[in-house]
Amino acid sequence: MTNAAAASSSTPAAGKEKSGPQRALDKLGLVRAIDLALHLPIRYEDETRIVPIAELRDGSVAQVEGVVTDSQVQIRARRQLVVRIHDGRDDLVLRFLHFYPSHQKSLAVGRRVRVRGEARGGFFGLEMVHPSFKGVDGDTPLPSALTPVYPTSAQLPQPYLRKAVAAALTRADLSELLPPELLPLRLWTLRAALEYLHHPAPDVSLAALEDRSHPAWLRLKFDELLAQQLSQLQAKQERERQRAPRFELRKGGLQERLLAQLPFPLTAAQRRVGSEIAADLGRATPMHRLLQGDVGSGKTVVAALAAAIAIDNGWQCALMAPTEILAEQHLRKLVGWLEPLGITVAWLTGSRKGKARQKMLDQVASGEAMLVVGTHAVIQEQVRFAKLGLAIIDEQHRFGVQQRLALRDKLVGQADAGKLEPHLLMMSATPIPRTLAMTVFADLDISTIDELPPGRTPVVTKLFADSKRDAVIARIRDEVAQQRQVYWVCPLVEESEHIDLQNATATHQHLSEALPDRMIGLLHGRMPAAEKAAVMSLFTSAQMAVLVSTTVIEVGVDVPNASLMVIEHAERFGLSQLHQLRGRVGRGAVASVCVLMYSTPLSDTAKARLKAMLETADGFEIARRDLEIRGPGEFFGARQSGAPLLRFADLVLDEALVRQAREVAQRLLSEHPRAAQAHLLRWLGGRTEYLKA
Ligand code: ADP
Ligand code: MG
Repeated sequence: MTNAAAASSSTPAAGKEKSGPQRALDKLGLVRAIDLALHLPIRYEDETRIVPIAELRDGSVAQVEGVVTDSQVQIRARRQLVVRIHDGRDDLVLRFLHFYPSHQKSLAVGRRVRVRGEARGGFFGLEMVHPSFKGVDGDTPLPSALTPVYPTSAQLPQPYLRKAVAAALTRADLSELLPPELLPLRLWTLRAALEYLHHPAPDVSLAALEDRSHPAWLRLKFDELLAQQLSQLQAKQERERQRAPRFELRKGGLQERLLAQLPFPLTAAQRRVGSEIAADLGRATPMHRLLQGDVGSGKTVVAALAAAIAIDNGWQCALMAPTEILAEQHLRKLVGWLEPLGITVAWLTGSRKGKARQKMLDQVASGEAMLVVGTHAVIQEQVRFAKLGLAIIDEQHRFGVQQRLALRDKLVGQADAGKLEPHLLMMSATPIPRTLAMTVFADLDISTIDELPPGRTPVVTKLFADSKRDAVIARIRDEVAQQRQVYWVCPLVEESEHIDLQNATATHQHLSEALPDRMIGLLHGRMPAAEKAAVMSLFTSAQMAVLVSTTVIEVGVDVPNASLMVIEHAERFGLSQLHQLRGRVGRGAVASVCVLMYSTPLSDTAKARLKAMLETADGFEIARRDLEIRGPGEFFGARQSGAPLLRFADLVLDEALVRQAREVAQRLLSEHPRAAQAHLLRWLGGRTEYLKA
């Protein structure tokens, strides 16, 4: 075997330079014996049987054994090693287009070899191209279990990894840590489950292994979910031990004055979540609340009301948004609401430099600015608050896990006076289905705005093939003729910002020609912040009729007079993203339309997304379907942020296990805290943070 040398080399002594494969192991996070034991096969190969060459069929994957009768290097289209083996009855040709002298040596005439590969009909009968093979004696025993195939990397040969895992399985401590009376009935022991999954009996139902419904899998999933629940509950307990400033909701105070100023009455849902937040702020433990509400449900004003309570009690509030455009929009609203009431608002973003920035920093540090609005520049190193009492993060799902953790660290100690922690309010327009909330956000309290402000007309969604561009432009003409405004969002080509820009520019050009008497704007990610702001304000003030943009407008932009949203190449967007974009219209009383343009052929997932968009406008239903289509990892952008979510369990399919794990976690923490710690250590090692985030 090519990798025989690597497989048999032993681990170098500590202190010596690590070998290539060992560094590769580290890179995959396979450091401790338990990490290796938990590194499970992606599939199995059956090497427990030898198939007579006569039984091979075109396309069948099988293992055969025979003696080499011929071995030669031929030069056809290219140089290749062609070997013939004989199993006592029939011949089979093995063909290697890449080979080394070691191949020729192990496949010399007279050698007995065990060969595994896919049989293909060749010119001279059946042959195997690049089969795996190993030298054997007449009496080398066949393995009694299926051979595992592990996920690996180029630097880590499969045979080396197999050996490392097998060794780790005997070395690792797999003793039962959990009191048996707490475990759900009929769960396998961890040792039995792992031994089985690494080396299953040949008669196993491969289907049950593959779809992870086998009892051995259930044990692993349960343990993983348990670790996740434990780490979240623990985070919650830690938080409950911390102290935060208590804010009183005063009669005649700032919140009341703000309410009196608003141009609309609050919806019942806004009032309800507002009092949930007020109650949290009145307690001496830090709030850790997620406020979720569909796009347009009116979260900003709820944030302002919370800020008013903190400020009224003499504490600063920071409000962060993921993009500069969104932050600026918040700034405009909050300044409009709060400055008349005598509150100084500071503005901090990455693009703000020099003296202006220094002035803002000084105002924040002195406490003169009671409200600070900005992008995540707000949590950068140099920013010091005089007395930060409340941090609000808008569109929190858009911040990466790392950024959220950084924020959490940054907040610690910011409240200053007597080791008080600030309260934390996160807002999201991507509602989280219940099971997910129970797992991924188990350490948060959740408030939901389940009602839109009155007077909204539902958005009508339409599909247009890309070839119907002219019909779409005719619609735009109608819309702007009625003094309404239009968004046109251009395709996302992830690989290249440059192509995005080209597409957007071409569309902008085309629309400018089609509507020569209207102002058509262009907005894209590469524009300097000041230019973006200028374009946005032309659109907000209705001087601009059509705004062509890349996805920079995705989150939170609020222009109630916009009544048509055109999304070009809608098939390239994620479902939640489409829903967010659609939420940019339908904000006023006018009937609004969302046009999804697509080009064929559509993938199955693209079809499922477009179908969901046509069928429902309910953010919760959209989130549920999105989760179904994408799976939880991507749903949370885990891939983007590099944080693994769950390796074994599936939050949608394993709902019952999630519930069981949650119950067990609660009992374990209170009745067997040491077992809880041991379980956490086994599962998460040094990486406890990822499940908390
Ligand atoms: P989101 O929840 O998507 O952040 P916004 O806070 O941007 O929503 O609110 C959407 C629009 O609805 C804004 O124009 C806002 O001023 C308006 N709005 C919020 N609450 C109400 C209400 N109770 N009645 C009428 N309009 C409201
Ligand atoms: Mg918003």
